[in-house]
Amino acid sequence: AVSINNDFLGHPKGVYVCFFTEMWERFSFYGMKALLLLYLIKHHKFGDALGYDLLGAYGGLVYCIPVFGGMLADRYLGMRKAVIFGGLLLVAGHVGMAFEGEAAQMVNGVMVRDEGSLNIFYLSLSLIIMGVGFLKPNISIIVGKLYAPDDPRRDSGFSLFYAGINMGALFASIVCGYLGLTRGWAWGFGAAGIGMVLGLIQFLWGQKYLHGLAEPDRPLARSTEWKIYGGAVLGLLPLAALMWAVANGAFKLPGDISLAFGLMILVMVGVLVWFMWFILKQCTQVQRHQMISLMILIAMCLVFFTLYEQTYGSWVAFTDRLLTKDIVPSLVIQSAVPPLPWSIISLLLAPLSFVVASSLSDRYPASSAPKWLFGGAFALMLVFLVRDSLVLPQTAGSLTYLGAMFLVLLAPIFTGLWGWLGKRNMNPSKPVKSALGLMFAGLSFIPLALAAQQAGISGVEASVWYLVMGYFILELGEMCLSPVGLSAVTQLSVPRVAGLMMGTWFLATAFSETLAALFGKVAAIEIADGGELARNSVEWTAAAAKYEHLFWMMMWIGLGFAALAMVA
Ligand code: GLN
Repeated sequence: AVSINNDFLGHPKGVYVCFFTEMWERFSFYGMKALLLLYLIKHHKFGDALGYDLLGAYGGLVYCIPVFGGMLADRYLGMRKAVIFGGLLLVAGHVGMAFEGEAAQMVNGVMVRDEGSLNIFYLSLSLIIMGVGFLKPNISIIVGKLYAPDDPRRDSGFSLFYAGINMGALFASIVCGYLGLTRGWAWGFGAAGIGMVLGLIQFLWGQKYLHGLAEPDRPLARSTEWKIYGGAVLGLLPLAALMWAVANGAFKLPGDISLAFGLMILVMVGVLVWFMWFILKQCTQVQRHQMISLMILIAMCLVFFTLYEQTYGSWVAFTDRLLTKDIVPSLVIQSAVPPLPWSIISLLLAPLSFVVASSLSDRYPASSAPKWLFGGAFALMLVFLVRDSLVLPQTAGSLTYLGAMFLVLLAPIFTGLWGWLGKRNMNPSKPVKSALGLMFAGLSFIPLALAAQQAGISGVEASVWYLVMGYFILELGEMCLSPVGLSAVTQLSVPRVAGLMMGTWFLATAFSETLAALFGKVAAIEIADGGELARNSVEWTAAAAKYEHLFWMMMWIGLGFAALAMVA
C-alpha cells in the first residue's frame, strides 16, 4: 500500500480538496447568479421590481438554509456526507436551470409566460438553495478542522480557500456570463451545472485526505440518515412554492416584505434566542467572550454584504443599461487561438493536475516534480484566464468577474501585508479590519454614482472603467473582512457548535441578500417588454438619476456603519 503523504506545498492536502470542490461549487453558484437578474428581466420579462424580489428571496434562502445544513452536520451527518448530499442536489438544480423554455411574450397586451418551464425554474432554485445549505457551511468547516486550533497556518489556509472561492467566481462570470448572454441562457446555466459535477467528482476522489475529520461523533443508523435526506427533499416543495409565490406577488407581508424575508427573520430570532441561552448557560467566561466577539463580527458582515450584493443586482442592471462593456475595446478580437476553449481546458487541467500531483507525492514523497506539475498547470490557468478576460467581448453578466479577479490578485498582497504587520505587532484587530471593510465598501459606490451622473448628463453610456474602479475598492474591503471572518468563525466558536455558527455567518449574508434586493428596488426601472432604454431619452435620464440616488445612499450607509464600528 502507498502511504498517504499529508502535506502539499505547506498545507494539508485536504485543503486543496476543499479548494477545488468549493471552486467548482462557487463556479456553478456565481455563474448562475451572474445571469439570474438579467434572465428574469430579459427572458421571463418579470420587470425590475419582481426581478429584484426573486433575486432577494432566492439569495436570502440560499444563505439561510446553511443554518440547518450546518446544524444537521454538527449533530448527525458529519460534514463529509453533508457535502456530498449538497453536491448532488446542486447538480440537479443546475441541470434544471438549463430548461429555459419559451421567452415571455406580450399577446394582446397580456404578458404570456411559459409556466411549465417556470415551474422547473422554481424547483431548480429550491434544489440549489438546499444544496448550498448542505454543502457550503460544511466544506468551510472541514477547512477549519484540517488545522489544529493553534496552527499558525490557519489564517493563510483560509485565504487559500477564499482564493478558491473566487477562482470559481472568476471563471464562472467569464464562462457562464458570456455563454448565457451570447449563446443562450441554457448554455450559461448548463455550463454552471457541468462545473458542479466536476466539483463533486473532485470531492469524492479527495475525501481520503480528510482523514475522518469530517465524520459524525456517533455514526448514524442508515435509516436515520435517510430520514434526513428525505426530509430535505420534501423541504424542496415549500421552497419551490415560496419562489412561485414571490414571482406571483402572492403572500406579501406589509411594507413590501416578502414571505421569504419574514421566514428569515424568524430563523434569525430563533438563532439569537438559542445564542443567548447558549452563551449564558453553556459557556465558560472565556468562551462567552469569544462568542460575543464573533457575533459582532457577524453583524458587521451583514452590513458589508448588503452593499456587496448590489454587484449582482443593481450593478449588473446598471452596467447592462448605462455603461460601455469592453474594458479595452481594441483588444476585443477574434484571435488565432479562440478564447473560451483554452481557458476552459486549462481550468479542467488545474484540478486534474492536483489529483496527479498528490498521488505522485504519496508514491514518491521526496520528489519535487509534483509541485512543479501542479504549479505549472495552475499558472497556465491564470494566464488563459487573464487573456480571456481581456479579449472576450464582455456582457453585463460576465463583468461580474471583476470582483473575483481583484480578489484573487489582492489575496497574496493582503496575506503578505497582514504577515508583515504581524511581525511588527501592528496587525489591526479583527474589528478594525471589519470597519475598514465597511469603509471601502462605502467608498466603492462613489465611482458608480459618478458614472450614473455622467450617463445622465451625456445621454450616452458612461465608461466601464468606473465599474472597474468600484470593484477594485470594494475588493479591498472584502479582503479586510470576509476571509478574516470565515477563519474567526472556526476559531472563536465553541467547537461543538461550529456548524451552527458557520450557518449563522451565512445567515447574516441571507439578510444582506434580501436587504440588497430591497435597496436595489430604489432603482427599479420598468421598461415595457424587457426592452432597452433609448439613449438621450427622458427614460434614460430618469433611470440614471435613480441609480445615482441609490449609489450615493449605499455610500452613506457604508461610511456610516464604518464610523459606528470604529467607535464601538
Ligand atoms: N464570496 C463569498 C462566498 O461566496 C461570500 C460569502 C459570504 O459570506 N457572504 O463564499
